[in-house]
Amino acid sequence: MNTDRLYYNDSHLIEFNARVVDITERVSGWAAVVLDRTAFYPTGGGQPSDTGTLNGSRVVECIDDGDNGVLHVVQGTSPSIGAEVSGRIDWARRLDHMQQHTGQHILSQALVTLFKAPTKSFRVLEQSCEIDVDLSNPTNEVIERAVELANNVIWEDRQITIRNVTSEEAAGLPLRKDSAREGELRLIEIDGFDLTPCGGTHAYRTGEVGIVAVRSWVRAKGLTRIEFVAGVRALADYRRANRSAREIAALFSAGRDDAPSLAAHMIEENKDLHRRVRSLEELAAEGEAKEFFNAAEQKPDGTRIIVKVLDGRDPESLKKLAHALIANPQTVACLFSRDHDTVRLVFARSPDADADMNELMRKACTILEGKGGGRPDMAQGGGKNLAKFDEAISEVTKAVNR
Ligand SMILES: [Zn+2]
Repeated sequence: MNTDRLYYNDSHLIEFNARVVDITERVSGWAAVVLDRTAFYPTGGGQPSDTGTLNGSRVVECIDDGDNGVLHVVQGTSPSIGAEVSGRIDWARRLDHMQQHTGQHILSQALVTLFKAPTKSFRVLEQSCEIDVDLSNPTNEVIERAVELANNVIWEDRQITIRNVTSEEAAGLPLRKDSAREGELRLIEIDGFDLTPCGGTHAYRTGEVGIVAVRSWVRAKGLTRIEFVAGVRALADYRRANRSAREIAALFSAGRDDAPSLAAHMIEENKDLHRRVRSLEELAAEGEAKEFFNAAEQKPDGTRIIVKVLDGRDPESLKKLAHALIANPQTVACLFSRDHDTVRLVFARSPDADADMNELMRKACTILEGKGGGRPDMAQGGGKNLAKFDEAISEVTKAVNR
């Protein structure tokens, strides 16, 4: 019942006729169809499955079931056993996968040619592809040299041929990697450049790959993981990258390629401003603390209770103000700040004042549906429920004035 795999001989065959030899209903409305021959590539070797139609019904995935053939997972009306069906492959998806897979063979061979760095694994992902390469000292320059060579091979438009050889014949050939398969081996030969055992669908000529580009790389588990894109994916990736770069440049009213230095400059400037704001805040906190302290009413036991709402303050500046306030004797400071959708709180008391800030903070945070806590003399926290802001203030005021 083994399926004759038409994609082995012709990667550009997208229409074919076949006979149904087996059907198993999976779940209602879904069936796994086995044909006597197929042009559908099933998931394997890092290359995702083809999709398409069988007699107009969607083939959503194909699974390699080894000697049992290729399972076509069909959604909708499935044909009956013995029926003649016509199959159609989604060409855009097939072309994409071919460009990625052939692009991978070329890039992998470029890494071997230049740096003796073999590829250990390969995957076509949703928007890009990955190879794990045994490359010991990766740098941008080293990887770009391989990309350069790969693209030259693409633009030389070399012929790609499929060779079927016995394992004895294969043993005498300069293969890029060994195959675990027994018996006949299918080799993909890129004229004068690469010879590799592979079951995937490949371009007729290297030019069909169009271009290969590396998006990023990282060291992972002793190997170098290279993320790359080829063909249509490279164009899609260029469009995304160009759009991001232009959007950033527009924020600076600058040209695209000037944006990185302008952004770096702005970050430096921002750090300086931050430092200046901090030192000014310290000065302001002292002045503000003096003002709040003097305005606060002194209770009969000598305590001053200061409850303030100071919108738009970050935790750091609230803490500075709290510290400046509790430098005074017998002082309790409860500071509130709203910043967009967040409430921030800092509660503090001087050592000779009597109130548990940690307990008070927990109470306030429960009302605001947030989190917070600290020590009996200093606590901080926050919450998101702005609707309960006034309630939190009045509860805190009541508690500290008791
Ligand atoms: Zn391959």
